Amino acid sequence: MDCLFCKIIKGEIPSTKLYEDELVYAFRDIDPQAPTHFLIVPKEHISSADDLDENHKELIGHIFLVAKKLCAEEGLTKGYRIVNNCKEDGGQTVDHLHFHVLGGRSLNWPPG
Ligand code: 5GP
Ligand code: ZN
Repeated sequence: MDCLFCKIIKGEIPSTKLYEDELVYAFRDIDPQAPTHFLIVPKEHISSADDLDENHKELIGHIFLVAKKLCAEEGLTKGYRIVNNCKEDGGQTVDHLHFHVLGGRSLNWPPG
């Protein structure tokens, strides 16, 4: 399958890795929108949040705990934002489920 993030997970495309375990891979976004901006992706290819089912409950909980751990390591004591863009109207451009984690500045709300 021709998937950018599957290639990054396999190391076929280089990335700045922050964390890896049996379930997930975390790496810095190539086009950061905040002083800290990284992505957490499942190693399993799941196209979007709309493709999740009951079997993924533990995975999604795990992703949020990995986010918390990495944000602590990044020194984001004032907070951060976890974002998932889902499919076309959600602004998803890479069709492998990923959670953006942004911090290091005050972030605007609402999104455009
Ligand atoms: P989306 O728009 O799908 O929610 O987010 C995709 C994200 O992947 C974007 O923030 C984009 O900058 C990032 N991205 C796209 N290609 C690459 C790449 O080759 N390497 C890394 N590290 N990030 C990428
Ligand atoms: Zn993939």
